Amino acid sequence: MLPYFNQDFGNPSSIHLYGRQARKAVDKARESTAKVLNAKFDEIFFTGGGTESDNWAIKGIAFANKNKGKHIITSSIEHHAVLYTCEYLEKMGFEVTYLPVDRYGMVDPQEVERAIRSDTILVSIMFANNEIGTIQPIKEIGAIAKSKDVYFHTDAVQAVGSVDIDVEDMNIDLLSLSGHKIYGPKGIGALYIRKGTKIVPLLHGGAQERNRRAGTENIPGIVGLGKAIELAHTNMEKNNKRLIGLRDRLINGIMNRIDHVLLNGHPNLRLPGNVNLSFEYIEGESLLLSLDMKGIAASSGSACTSGSLDPSHVLLAIGLSHEIAHGSLRITLGEDNTEEDVDYVLEVLPPIVQRLREMSPLFVQEKGGCQYV
Ligand code: PLP
Repeated sequence: MLPYFNQDFGNPSSIHLYGRQARKAVDKARESTAKVLNAKFDEIFFTGGGTESDNWAIKGIAFANKNKGKHIITSSIEHHAVLYTCEYLEKMGFEVTYLPVDRYGMVDPQEVERAIRSDTILVSIMFANNEIGTIQPIKEIGAIAKSKDVYFHTDAVQAVGSVDIDVEDMNIDLLSLSGHKIYGPKGIGALYIRKGTKIVPLLHGGAQERNRRAGTENIPGIVGLGKAIELAHTNMEKNNKRLIGLRDRLINGIMNRIDHVLLNGHPNLRLPGNVNLSFEYIEGESLLLSLDMKGIAASSGSACTSGSLDPSHVLLAIGLSHEIAHGSLRITLGEDNTEEDVDYVLEVLPPIVQRLREMSPLFVQEKGGCQYV
């Protein structure tokens, strides 16, 4: 990316040499992105990230196809970039069906089929969930959408680089991805749009991205995304094998050492690096802060970071009570993590959980002491 900040600073819309160099770099990244998805070069559009891609896919299809119908189907565990876009469209007169999920966070393709009506214009189901890691039956859902002649969008922000994706084989019409989930830069993403899809732009202005996404391109970001997606794909099999080993060592290690812990998400149809657990009788935030003091970066299942004390909509949708959802912790393993890291978590986590439970009146009352961890 570095040369594109100060050396090759051309604008790809310019015809001169510097412009042509920048255009070449954008084309190369588009080529890499298309290849990984089994898409065509001119079906890839660069955006400002996953959020923009989701917004564009859903609003773009809704506004372009409103004469055909105003019904959209999605799931209750989507990222807010999808859910809040759908809520906005509801205020604009569209109707949205939010499909439930089972206790593992799975959408049932039969339910998608049953929910499709004559006025349905779009099905939007995420490829893999960002909190609990569950991977959806995307190929089955794609086949159903195709057979009913309804557009199918998938938010694959979490899946790209971790799961094999083939937009042709899976009948995906629109797919969102983001740079920073695959070790690329932040603030860059892409939307795959199948050729022939009826969609309007989200951003109006210049003629960039073949008149579909106005605004001078973020060249360093696009170059970074192109390289990141290429590397993620090339190393996927090797990385996944290693990450699944670490993930299962961590999950099993925690469950063997600590009582009253539940695994959230599917036991094996889950992202290779995703660990999401609920610890009864404690608050996820306290756990998270205690781990932070030990140099371990994790996330909790409630949305306190967003200024709300509501537990995660994903954890509630898989049937957890508010109390259990509040005691959840997400640890994501990545390329840099090692077996030593996992063993370090296994060493420091049990005493933290024990200490927090000793402070929980509910735990002391129910267990009659603090001998359980
Ligand atoms: N969709 C999913 C599933 C995500 O996990 C995220 C980011 O966390 C987004 C969309 C939003 O992507 P971005 O941060 O690139 O806007």
